[in-house]
Order: sequence, then structure tokens, then C-alpha cells
Amino acid sequence: MTTITHLECSLCGKQYEAGRVHNVCECGGPLSVRYDLVQVRQGWSREWLNNAPPTMWRYAAVLPVGKPGSIVSLGEGMSPMVRCRNAGARLGLEDLWVKDDGVNPTGSFKARGLSCAVSMAVELGIRKLAIPSAGNAASALAAYAAAAGIEANIFMPRDVPLSNYAECKAFGAKVTLVDGLISDCARLVAEGRATEGWFDMSTLREPYRVEGKKTMGYEIAEQFHWELPDVILYPTGGGVGLLGMWKAFEEMEAFGWVSAKRPRMVAVQAEGCRPVVEAFERGESRCRFWENAYTAASGLRVPKPLGDFLILDILRASGGTAVSVTDAELLDEGVKFAAEEGLFMAPEGAACVAALGKLIAAGAVKANEKILVYNTGAGLKYLEAYSTRFPRSAAAEQDKLGGLITPR
Ligand SMILES: *Cc1c(COP(=O)(O)O)cnc(C)c1O
Ligand SMILES: [Zn+2]
Repeated sequence: MTTITHLECSLCGKQYEAGRVHNVCECGGPLSVRYDLVQVRQGWSREWLNNAPPTMWRYAAVLPVGKPGSIVSLGEGMSPMVRCRNAGARLGLEDLWVKDDGVNPTGSFKARGLSCAVSMAVELGIRKLAIPSAGNAASALAAYAAAAGIEANIFMPRDVPLSNYAECKAFGAKVTLVDGLISDCARLVAEGRATEGWFDMSTLREPYRVEGKKTMGYEIAEQFHWELPDVILYPTGGGVGLLGMWKAFEEMEAFGWVSAKRPRMVAVQAEGCRPVVEAFERGESRCRFWENAYTAASGLRVPKPLGDFLILDILRASGGTAVSVTDAELLDEGVKFAAEEGLFMAPEGAACVAALGKLIAAGAVKANEKILVYNTGAGLKYLEAYSTRFPRSAAAEQDKLGGLITPR
């Protein structure tokens, strides 16, 4: 099936053998999976995809799983690519698109990474998984671990959206709510690794989640008929989706499927947690730890991404940028956009549309460019955050005005 040659440290270049259990390099750098792309290309073509399964596993030739029987799939991937004429008209953009990953299993794009990572855990015989999560990664791990029949130990901040907590419990995971941030959760997972024998599924401490997220880049290319958009706005927490898309572009270029021209990659963050934006603006190659991180866009609450240097490299190499918006801006945009397009985005996705206004004002995006907003999740997972836009007192007001029908 797959032709992995080895894993390679993205910091020091040291190589590791495929088919064995790995976390990070001995230098602490994240490991990146390498394939024999020449061999992949010989047995695979864009035309082959015409009859491929309608999930991200249509790209199995460039995914790390060796045996089809190891694949744990709930139908993730091949999400809709939606043209947004109404929001585009408001913003003055002729060619605005949203890739809607809110329709994935567990309502977020985390399904892609965890489907791949749990499949690899099955293949490598790992039985006990653990994850620190800002919310959606936990939900996805819990779902795929349930489907695979293996143990999931989950550590989340105690103020995660209720949807994430309820999903993890429903899927039968062992859940610990932590009075702290994802960085505090990560410490608890590291402790359990030593005492409980857990395998750490953290972003970039596990080599295969990013491979699953790579399918985002393949799908964008395929759905746009192998022509990449001019700009991609991506709500950046740990930045794995950004790294995954970039890796996909490189692989597809090696296959001759896309040209060398890359989209300008834009990292969007929330004002309450903007380490990537700060580092980008300062011209630094790594992020500083963001103290007291807070945002309703919980997926963006990552005080210091492990792959910060990789994210910043990509933003600069692509001619892109990094922007932040306030929570009020991103929640208001989520509601406005839903009313215009019939698509209820996660606050993280809505942050990207809100950021577009700023980029247009700054002249960083032009009216006739093809712009893609990556919506990473479903608005329905964030009822507490969005309900601040529909306070109950307003409902009561409606009642007085006769908006509510009371049965006799
Ligand atoms: C995790 C998450 C993000 C951030 O993803 P990264 O790839 O880690 O940057 C964005 N949006 C949502 C909805 C998420 O769950
Ligand atoms: Zn290394």
C-alpha cells in the first residue's frame, strides 16, 4: 500500500526507521514522514481518484498506513467546497470559497488527523492513548479510539465547550478536566506516559496526525481541479493543518500535479492568544509563550505551538502573513456569515472571515483573487460561545412582541 522510506526530524534531519513506535526526535524536534514519491507516482494518478472512495482515504497512497485492515475510518474528509457569493459581495471579493470541515465526524477537521493517528496506533499495536486537547482533538480521539476498541485518556481545560466534554464521555473515554490550559494538560500526559505506559498523541509529538491533515491540501487541489487558490486563511492553534497543507503542496508538485506556485498562507489567531502573530510581526523564528491565553475560539487557545518555527517559515516562504481578531469580531462574523450563506462556522473559521476585512483594508488581498477560508469546525459545537450573541432576554423580548407562540 504505502511506501514510507523513513521518518525525519524537521529540526536536525536525523532519520528514524518506519514501522516502529516513535514520538519526537531525541533533539525534541517533530518527526516528518517521508515516502518514496517516485514509486508512489508510478502506481497512482489524478485520474485514479475519479473512482476513489469519498473519504480522505482516497489518498491512502500518501498516507502512512501499511495494511488496509488497520484503517479506522468514520467517513472523514471529502468535505464540501462552498462558493460564498453573498459574503463575498459584502466584502468586495469576487471569488470567495469556504472549505467546510465542520461536516466531519465529531464536527471538526481533527477527525482527519486522529483517523490517521489511531489507524497507525492499531497498526503498531499501541493499546493506550493519551491526549492533551483544547477540545476537538479530544472528541476526535475519543471517537476513533472507541471505533478501534482501544483506550483513550483525555486531558482538557475545564472550560472546554460542553460539546467536547459530552462527546468524550459518550465515546467512553477516560476524561480529566484540568484547571489550566492545554500546556498544563500536556504536562499531565507526559507524566502518565512514564507511570501508565500511555502513548502521547499530542500535536506533533505524534508523527501521523499531520499526515491525516495533509489530505486537506490534496482535497483543495482536487476540488479546484489542480489549481491552488491565491490565498488560504487558516485558523492557527498548533498549526498542524498549515503544515499538513504545505506538505501536500510539496508532494503534489513532486508528482507534477500542481505547479510550483503556492497560495499565500495566512495564519489567523484571536487577540487573546496570538503568539504566531506576535512572532511574525517581530520577525522572530519562534513564538514566545502567551500568558493568560483566552478566546472563545477554543481551538486557537495554544499558548506556544511546538511547530512554531515551521509555521513561521511557511507564512514567510509563501508571502503570507498573520492576523488576529477579537472575540467579538469573530463571533459577530460567525453569525453574520451564517445568515448570508446558510453555513454556521466554528468561531475559528469565522475568525478567518473577520480577518479578511482587515487584509482587504490593508491591501493584502485583492478583489479578483481566489480566496479560500478553511472552516475547521461546526458552529453547533460552540453553543455557549454563540449564545452570547442571542441572549435569553432577547428571546423574552420577542415573546412580548408576539414572536413566540404559547400553546393554550
Ligand atoms: C484544533 C483546531 C484549530 C487549530 O488547528 P491547528 O491545526 O492545531 O492549528 C482550529 N479550529 C478548530 C475548530 C480546531 O479544533
Ligand atoms: Zn532532531
